[in-house]
Amino acid sequence: MIIVMKPNSGEKDIAEVMSRLKDIGLKGHISQGAERTIIGAVGVKPNMPEIHDSFIVMPSVAEVIPVTKPYKLTNREFHPLNTTIRADKFTIGGDEIVVMAGPCAVETEVQLIKTAEAVKAAGANILRGGAFKPSTSPYGFRGLGEDVLKLLAKARKETGMPIVTEVIAARDVEMVARYSDILQIGARNMQNFALLDEVGQTQKPVMLKRGLSSTIQEWLLAAEYIMSQGNEQVMLCERGIRTFETYTRNTMDISAIPAIHKLSHLPVIADPSHATGKWHLVTPVSMAAIAAGADGLMIEVHPNPDAALKDGPQSLTFDNFATLMQKIKPLITAMGRKLATEANHFTAQC
Ligand code: PEP
Ligand code: MN
Repeated sequence: MIIVMKPNSGEKDIAEVMSRLKDIGLKGHISQGAERTIIGAVGVKPNMPEIHDSFIVMPSVAEVIPVTKPYKLTNREFHPLNTTIRADKFTIGGDEIVVMAGPCAVETEVQLIKTAEAVKAAGANILRGGAFKPSTSPYGFRGLGEDVLKLLAKARKETGMPIVTEVIAARDVEMVARYSDILQIGARNMQNFALLDEVGQTQKPVMLKRGLSSTIQEWLLAAEYIMSQGNEQVMLCERGIRTFETYTRNTMDISAIPAIHKLSHLPVIADPSHATGKWHLVTPVSMAAIAAGADGLMIEVHPNPDAALKDGPQSLTFDNFATLMQKIKPLITAMGRKLATEANHFTAQC
């Protein structure tokens, strides 16, 4: 249910509505726009007619609108303006497009630092690197754990790049959050509700990847789990879905990007590496994602993809990554946006 306040309503009126919501066991989320304030109510059965009636009679209330969709906090109707998320020195979800890049899995210090320096020189903003890898096969490479988190912290210190890394278990959330700027929830864990609850209790930005066979509604409900725990800094990552096609590893659902922007206020990142599974498709699909309105890219890069312990076939060499960056720059401008830079960030702050 959305309660639309009258244009002349003040803080006292808003407080009155909030208190009435609390009395009946509902939680109110205030969204203050330039012209009007709306209050989204969440809780069990907020759409019951008698609850509606008890708000519509309030003198400061203009309208009470039922929300029929099961996702509320992620719903654009609840929060009409885009959410922007601050990850260290970058803002995600605003005018700027962020590029996250790095190896699928961190293998050695040299591999990580060389990659971090190369992607930074080419214009990437945020360093990715896996410490805990969700592997389809129990015999696959599963990551080197906390040692890698320490290497990521070192790379952060040396390059100044914020870190995004995946957490795969609820018990590791506190530790991974200590070393990183963005917590990644992988596709295989999109509906690991205990893990979603746990990251929801932190105040770290979370990047929630779409499950391999998840609908947009299931994806938004997974984000709702995180937000309903109190962490509103959630970005979604489209990384391709399962279809009958086998040439590509997954099928990039380009339409999900504008669809999410219509349904939700949360930023959308595109991951063409996992979506395609083939390095030569990564640049064209990155361009398509930016043209469709993505707020950022996540790209796998490795010094020697042929020798990578994980996801080599979809990893870009340093040269190929530099070419990708050159190709997306004019497109970002054509979309009326800017590639995130620290300089832009500082300008924005002045
Ligand atoms: C990854 O980012 O390396 C990864 C495992 O991605 P996904 O969860 O999308 O498969
Ligand atoms: Mn990978």
